[in-house]
Amino acid sequence: MDPLKLSLFELNKAVQQKKISCLELTEFFLKRIEKLNPQLNAYLAMNLKAKEQAKELDQKDLSQFKLAGLPMGIKDMLCTKDLKTTAASKILENFIPPYDATLVKKLKKQGVVILGKLNQDEFAMGSSNENSYFGAVKNPWNLEFVPGGSSGGSAAAQSAKLAAATIGTDTGGSIRQPASFCGVVGLKPTYGRVSRYGIIAFASSLDQAGPLTANIEDAALMLEVIAGHDPMDATTSQKKVPEFSKNLTRDIKGLKVGILAEALQGGLHPDVEKSLQSGIEALKKEGAEIFEVSLPLLKHSISVYYLIAASEASSNLARYDGVRFGYRAPMNESGSTLDEFYSKTRGQGFGKEVKRRIMMGTYCLSSGYIQAYYEKACRVRRLVLNQYNEAFKKCDVILSPVSANPAFKIEEKISDPLQMYLNDLFTTSTNLAGLPGLSVPFSLSQNKLPIGLQLTAKAFDEQTLLNVGLALERNSLVKTENPHVI
Ligand code: GLN
Repeated sequence: MDPLKLSLFELNKAVQQKKISCLELTEFFLKRIEKLNPQLNAYLAMNLKAKEQAKELDQKDLSQFKLAGLPMGIKDMLCTKDLKTTAASKILENFIPPYDATLVKKLKKQGVVILGKLNQDEFAMGSSNENSYFGAVKNPWNLEFVPGGSSGGSAAAQSAKLAAATIGTDTGGSIRQPASFCGVVGLKPTYGRVSRYGIIAFASSLDQAGPLTANIEDAALMLEVIAGHDPMDATTSQKKVPEFSKNLTRDIKGLKVGILAEALQGGLHPDVEKSLQSGIEALKKEGAEIFEVSLPLLKHSISVYYLIAASEASSNLARYDGVRFGYRAPMNESGSTLDEFYSKTRGQGFGKEVKRRIMMGTYCLSSGYIQAYYEKACRVRRLVLNQYNEAFKKCDVILSPVSANPAFKIEEKISDPLQMYLNDLFTTSTNLAGLPGLSVPFSLSQNKLPIGLQLTAKAFDEQTLLNVGLALERNSLVKTENPHVI
């Protein structure tokens, strides 16, 4: 039996039927990590108790679990009890949380073994994973290329099969864009679908966590495990969580798919344009009704996103002051006043991009500017949602690229923040409107890198998203076997 060929359902079944033990499965993935992680830099910290925990699971009645003994990796934005959680920042370099994020608790409740914590851009700020204090992650398809970001470690680990599934977070595209760059499925649930309790806050009104998986069925199963109301996060919805994986249907006949008109007006990399066109053809063939829908405000979504995300980040990151936890500037360097102590600690603890966002956000929230920047951005955000609502009167899902280009080379864009921010053109509006978004691997670029297509649906309609995703997956040219690492 080759665990790499099995879906989460099949793996769960194999474990339940004792064809493989939880311990054997955990050891299998740990061995792959040992072999491949030095090249990829996807894992930051390993769970040293993984084997012990797998052994304990083997003693239990496994029939109560949906993901019995399945080994997974978690983005370092999520707190894990007794396991280092750094947000890929020096300021949290030695932080060990005393509790699990709700999402992590839910996975453990279903029998998941946490293998370790995955690399990312510092505080999830970035689109290439080059902003990690612990060094860039490499794209398993070609080690000279970025895996995308900020959940680059989660995407690379999933792509190279260093876990049965991984978890990422998405504030403006951080699950979908790396999933696209690494040829895996990435699902950003509706805002409020999955608890944010225990997830290090970046921009609280935009942050969501979700799965990166080998296929759509796995994503559906993961979502039903991690979703649901949580008294510890007041923004989670009380809505019932459907059994997404059981409700998956192959039939999308007559479903209305809106093609994002703004994506058809030029500006896409030719390989992405081709991918979009063949995606349209595939959905037509599957019986969907296809027409264009427009979101005229899309062109402002990057500015609006960066104003809101930076503002909220500047407030959220104020807690890292070196007093109660995290990095603290050495005594002989920390000055003689409290202000000097704060500024030395924060100056040394945060990386360049994080500082840029804190300064931008502080400016946008400052007296005299807040109306012109933050508040205005919030108003435009509402108009973006209105435009989506109009579009969804006509269609069930919107198809668009995830990113205007396939993965780029390491160091190609890092010195030009604006170039980097342009990566987020097609993903940020989903977060601004709080909608669910899915990235499905669909084709290969000229230089053999994967390209994903994005689907967006109405709030809490992840089911339709997954059903259409399944139709794309059936027609995808990206085979899960990644030729370079496996
Ligand atoms: N690339 C975007 C940014 O840098 C999105 C990040 C994210 O979704 N966490 O903010």
